[in-house]
Amino acid sequence: MGKKQKVEAVTPMNEDFARWYTDVISKTELVDYSPVKGFMVIRPYGYAIWENIQKEYDKRFKETGHQNMYFPLLIPESLLKKEAEHVEGFAPEVAWVTHGGGKELAERLCIRPTSETIICSMYSKWLNTYRQLPFKYNQWCSVVRWEKTTRPFLRTSEFLWQEGHTLHETYDEAQEETMQMLDIYRDVAEEYLAIPMVVGKKSEKEKFAGAYSTYTMEALMHDGQALQSGTSHNLGQHFTKAFEISYLDRENNQANPYHTSWGISTRLIGAIIMVHGDDNGLVLPPKIAPTQLVIIPIAQHKEGVLDAAYEIKNSLKEKFRVELDDMDGYTPGWKFNQWEMKGVPIRLEIGPRDIEEGQCILARRDTGEKVQVSLEDLATTIEKLLDEIQDNMYQKALNMREQKTSIAEDMNEFKDNLTKNPGFIKAMWCGSRECEDKIKDETGATLRCVPFEQEVIGDGTCVCCREKANDMAYFARAY
Ligand SMILES: [Zn+2]
Repeated sequence: MGKKQKVEAVTPMNEDFARWYTDVISKTELVDYSPVKGFMVIRPYGYAIWENIQKEYDKRFKETGHQNMYFPLLIPESLLKKEAEHVEGFAPEVAWVTHGGGKELAERLCIRPTSETIICSMYSKWLNTYRQLPFKYNQWCSVVRWEKTTRPFLRTSEFLWQEGHTLHETYDEAQEETMQMLDIYRDVAEEYLAIPMVVGKKSEKEKFAGAYSTYTMEALMHDGQALQSGTSHNLGQHFTKAFEISYLDRENNQANPYHTSWGISTRLIGAIIMVHGDDNGLVLPPKIAPTQLVIIPIAQHKEGVLDAAYEIKNSLKEKFRVELDDMDGYTPGWKFNQWEMKGVPIRLEIGPRDIEEGQCILARRDTGEKVQVSLEDLATTIEKLLDEIQDNMYQKALNMREQKTSIAEDMNEFKDNLTKNPGFIKAMWCGSRECEDKIKDETGATLRCVPFEQEVIGDGTCVCCREKANDMAYFARAY
């Protein structure tokens, strides 16, 4: 029968995690490398995952009163320079357009690394009175940040994202919006992507350039490294003052509004791969898997097998994202491996004997378990199974994170834990930049966030300087 009997295996995770990652993303055809170094091509299977993530987030944004808009790719240098802290934060990563129409431009144009500046310049034109507030807008686009070292989905010079930009009358309203969006980020990540998140506040050092405060959701990967997976910023009046956005308030005075911005990106696909994947490839959560169920006919040349397989597909396609692999010349075993590598949650096997007995086999990608089920209430069984897989994947990821989370009372313990059990380290922190820097220099771990859920570790003194500390923070090496 088949010409190709075996799918090329991926490098085992424990042998070389970076190679495992690269093998998985290329063998499952999520991405390819582009002619320009550091840029990625997202192939149909990868893009379908992004669309499913995007769909759910977009729905939640709209449910909370946001509208989509679109701004140009290019930003004049003079606009970028209006906010000093911001331009300084992004300067090293900015790509510039210097020529257009065969001529050198009078003013350089930057390719957006993010859109605060151009959006604020427009908001200053649009806003006149408090009656127009709040502004609640979002844009789906790509941004360019020229990176030295890149890895598909995790860090590339161009990536797809959304950036929400809102304006409010009061600080409290802006803060409420900042928290609401972080909450939506976490909720979808946990419920749809099956990735447990640690949520909290970034340190002054790690916050967004120009932000009053930055909040983040952080996930832990299989190799014990953290991945910042979404951020929400309360920008205060920083940009609105710099860009002279003002309006007549309720007392008829000129006032500057309060401003937020928030973003998630194709990085989330990297998180899905590195949280759920295994040595056989991808494992996709049912809620965002482009294909939730694949039907593989056994002995498909035998009479009636393909017909039965098509019939099953037709009966399921309204309810599920289902594929039937009827390709000629490949063994079922080869197909099993192929779809397993692609991370499809359920494989349905149907052969001549199954048809006779009115049943089929369902195999779970997450556990490898196989069950025989009747063809009669197939849709109900599959629906239940997909829910079970989704829940199990979240629980598994949570167990993994808990296993890789430890506490440290002093620097020796900190370093010891990072070596023996790489992952999150929960430790007390005095709040000083000196200690944060020292920890990074000595261990390579950065302060991921000060979580909302606090606890006291040991005697409550800073892990680094042993002075009194008010905050417990999460530290980890990070992507
Ligand atoms: Zn300290």
